[in-house]
Amino acid sequence: MRSEGAVAEAGSGGGTRFVKTVAHWIDGTVTSGASTRRGTVWNPATGEQQAWVTLASEQDVATAVASARRAFEAWSQVSLSQRTKILFAFRELVNANTRRLAEAISDEHGKVVADAEGEVQRGLEVIEFACGIPTLLKGDYSDQVSTGVDLFSFREPLGVVAGITPFNFPAMVPMWMFPIAIACGNTFVLKPSERDPSASLLIAQWWAEAGLPAGVFNVVQGDKEAVDALLDHPDVAAISFVGSTSVARYIHTRGTAAGKRVQALGGAKNHAIVLPDAGIDFAADHLVAAAFGSAGERCMAISAAVAVGDAGDALVESLSRKAAAVRVGSGRDPASEMGPVVTKEALQRIRGLIDSGARQGGRIVVDGRNLVVKGHEKGFFIGPTVIDAVRPEMEVYREEIFGPVLSVVRARTVDEAINLINANPYGNGTAIFTSSGESARRFQRGVKVGMIGINVPIPVPLAYYSFGGWKDSLFGDQHIHGPEGVSFYTRAKVVTSRWPHVEQASQASYHFPTSK
Ligand code: NAD
Repeated sequence: MRSEGAVAEAGSGGGTRFVKTVAHWIDGTVTSGASTRRGTVWNPATGEQQAWVTLASEQDVATAVASARRAFEAWSQVSLSQRTKILFAFRELVNANTRRLAEAISDEHGKVVADAEGEVQRGLEVIEFACGIPTLLKGDYSDQVSTGVDLFSFREPLGVVAGITPFNFPAMVPMWMFPIAIACGNTFVLKPSERDPSASLLIAQWWAEAGLPAGVFNVVQGDKEAVDALLDHPDVAAISFVGSTSVARYIHTRGTAAGKRVQALGGAKNHAIVLPDAGIDFAADHLVAAAFGSAGERCMAISAAVAVGDAGDALVESLSRKAAAVRVGSGRDPASEMGPVVTKEALQRIRGLIDSGARQGGRIVVDGRNLVVKGHEKGFFIGPTVIDAVRPEMEVYREEIFGPVLSVVRARTVDEAINLINANPYGNGTAIFTSSGESARRFQRGVKVGMIGINVPIPVPLAYYSFGGWKDSLFGDQHIHGPEGVSFYTRAKVVTSRWPHVEQASQASYHFPTSK
């Protein structure tokens, strides 16, 4: 098994340094698989490579799926009580190791440790929801639907299901999927983001410690090659995907063409409307946190503030003051409120989009492009940026920036603001800041968006509700986790049953059966 690799040190003395290799977890053990391809994992705060990640081949994926297929035979027969015991034990291990997991996330993603702890907390809530699986899987029963006939339904697992996840929540997003899938009796193959793969292996170890049989939870590290192998594999029954819209659309098209059940959550451009009757400082506080938390690399980040009527100038003034005060630094520094972005390419793309905003007539009121963090000069840092006077045709408005950039768009009325949101191809989350119940209600009923906040900037539903957007933010019929998660990972059986007395006359009929 390959466990480390040499990296040439740049800089004065040169030399080599050994870094770890993050491998797969298949059939209850760490394995580097057959592929020799590997990718670089960066530490965004230092700009240095901190690991290699093995990139799976089609053969590696086949090995993982075969292990999951074998494990399914036994796991799908394990009693609900036994499954629940393992889920509770796993919940305890994740809870006890929250800090460790958060630090691993921070080192590869860049987000501040406290934010990463919040991510783990939200993932834990899904595990806790899945601990209630005996109640969630209760079927229906109708007695005596016809004379001597009963009707009942129950749900069965699908088989091997796969999760393909993005870099921005390396623990929480997989936890939206696998606790419920496994609790329902499926076996799982996770293909995490190749940018921050370490969280997945910690999670795999804790599953094993919790008593989950080998093969029920597997991890294949990799890129498009691994994803395509999962999409085409005949033994994968369902795919849950979270990532960018272009890939989500591709996953949905190719996965459903191969006969799989697919839920594919895509990108976002989340708007927050601010009305003149809102507490402007309250709104600005929340918008700054929602736009710049996790360096804007959240699918529920607010990236467009729509200032209605004369709310605009006061809002921009307050946003600017607060954005300029955000403390940017290493995710490991407890004083930091915002860390770096994930890669150098992301940094360059975000800078380029801000440049285009300036070129196309936006007014850059807070400019993070040239931020340097002392002691971390090579880190992938960019400061909070606020662009006023943004118009819908500008690139900075049309693109999902996925960085710490907040655009301010002006609108004359609430209806104009609602129309703006509805004209946008994305429909993940949105929020309104107002003290008017009438405006809030008009907004909640009028916007074509899946998750809505009223004076709440990031309206992420709790684990016992389902999470998902509309339009180009989700391809498929079902949202993720909560009741729709249980429904996605199971299929129903409806049984019509009769237990006649042995001597009872058959009364069989050639007509279509009706109740008697
Ligand atoms: P991404 O689409 O680049 O990658 C997501 C996953 O797909 C990764 O595992 C990656 O390895 C794989 N992948 C990438 N390109 C592929 C290709 N061409 N073919 C097959 N597989 C491919 O997304 P990302 O950059 O990791 O994450 C950021 C994106 O995810 C943003 O667009 C963000 O809005 C979105 N996101 C959405 C939600 C949501 O709930 N809707 C949540 C989190 C993130």
